[in-house]
Amino acid sequence: SKYTWVDKDTCIACGACGATAPDIYDYDDEGLAEVIFDGDNNRGVMAIPDDMFEDMQDACDGCPTDSIHIEDAPFNKEA
Ligand code: SF4
Repeated sequence: SKYTWVDKDTCIACGACGATAPDIYDYDDEGLAEVIFDGDNNRGVMAIPDDMFEDMQDACDGCPTDSIHIEDAPFNKEA
């Protein structure tokens, strides 16, 4: 499985990831990105379906600050 999490400390709210993978990433009130897939709430705990891997990787590759992280295990971040 794959899991993803956005580091808001380095996100610059450029708006790219949500355009690339709108089912995975959206923005908070400050425009900072967060994982919204399946109620993840940017905890990095919801397994991303295989058919969304390409969009997820494209968003990761396109992030100008490398704020999008992808791992094989859950991140278990605080919401
Ligand atoms: Fe933030 Fe990166 Fe998404 Fe831009 S692409 S909004 S910097 S996480």
